[in-house]
Amino acid sequence: MASAMGIETALPQDMVLTTKLQTAINWCRRSSLWPMPFATACCGIELMATASSRFDLARFGAEVMRFSPRQSDLMIVAGRVSVKMLPVLQRIYQQMTEPKWVISMGACASTGGVFDTYAVVQGIDQFVPVDVYVPGCPPRPETLMEGIFAIQSIVDRDGMPPKGGLRRPLQLAIEPTHVTRPQPTPLTVGLT
Ligand code: SF4
Repeated sequence: MASAMGIETALPQDMVLTTKLQTAINWCRRSSLWPMPFATACCGIELMATASSRFDLARFGAEVMRFSPRQSDLMIVAGRVSVKMLPVLQRIYQQMTEPKWVISMGACASTGGVFDTYAVVQGIDQFVPVDVYVPGCPPRPETLMEGIFAIQSIVDRDGMPPKGGLRRPLQLAIEPTHVTRPQPTPLTVGLT
């Protein structure tokens, strides 16, 4: 049943719009990204906050977190990835539908962060193609949203990744959305 809400209330009822099929597909696809949250640590909490009412990722059509890789097209790796966990990450990536994109959220996913140890992967881009790096420890929800907007721009501009061969990672880096401030109180630890 037709609804009296939405764009049809602002436009004439008998209006006709023409566009290219690829443009319509890109518009639909970028407006309905379904993230696959691969959240392993504290960055995952910020990922949850991004979908909550305060930040409301639903405004941009990307709040439908799927825990089935076959229903997802945007992997968000939030947190450190251990070497033991890496085969799971790769398998989930392989099971996701094409076209698909990857966001590396936070310092740990992108570089291992402070966990410079033999047990932690020192950057997931060595094993899966990362399209957007979101900086921070943890990144704020706004910064993650900037990363998702970057993916949407890519979909709008380029549509599906080219067919055939391996998909090349786009490797875009989002600028931090915060200004670092000095320590508010003098450091006294270890002083006598
Ligand atoms: S980048 Fe920081 S907040 Fe994110 S998982 Fe690593 S230690 Fe936690």
